[in-house]
Amino acid sequence: MVKLNFAAIKEGHSCLELDVASVDIDLAEFIEFAYPVHIVHHLDKVSNEIYVKTTLSTSVNLECDVCLDSYKLDLRETIDTILTKDSELVDRGEEEVYLISDSTTEIDITDSIRQSLLLAIPYKKICRENCKGLCPICGVNFNHEQCTCANEKTDSRWEALKNITFENK
Ligand SMILES: [Zn+2]
Ligand SMILES: [Zn+2]
Repeated sequence: MVKLNFAAIKEGHSCLELDVASVDIDLAEFIEFAYPVHIVHHLDKVSNEIYVKTTLSTSVNLECDVCLDSYKLDLRETIDTILTKDSELVDRGEEEVYLISDSTTEIDITDSIRQSLLLAIPYKKICRENCKGLCPICGVNFNHEQCTCANEKTDSRWEALKNITFENK
């Protein structure tokens, strides 16, 4: 779990850095991280409110939908969070807003981190801009090697032409 310890946050601006493993944010079975998620919180505490800008950086191992090669994708996401005692601020705007009270000691923000990373994974996974894919006949990966399947096809067509006899006497 990733929590913001409300009581420990100083008045004014402060930064907090931490690394979390995929199991800590319940993503181990969905995403294979190349290394732990690096989290940096930029905190601004003004009396009863805390504005948090959180950046998440990591790299994930994905499989290309076209050539089936595995590749790495760097992710860098930002989440804006507001912790406030003002109930009118809740559910307004694009930020994640959490209502806190005088007895709040910490806020669990695991869910918003989890969602942000899940949404960052592209629906269509492609290893490079011009992935050449696989040969439909022999299955070689055209990004790494060539095959002669296409040539052989042409050859056999020419072969067929050779057998045509013309009887136009
Ligand atoms: Zn590919
Ligand atoms: Zn081939």
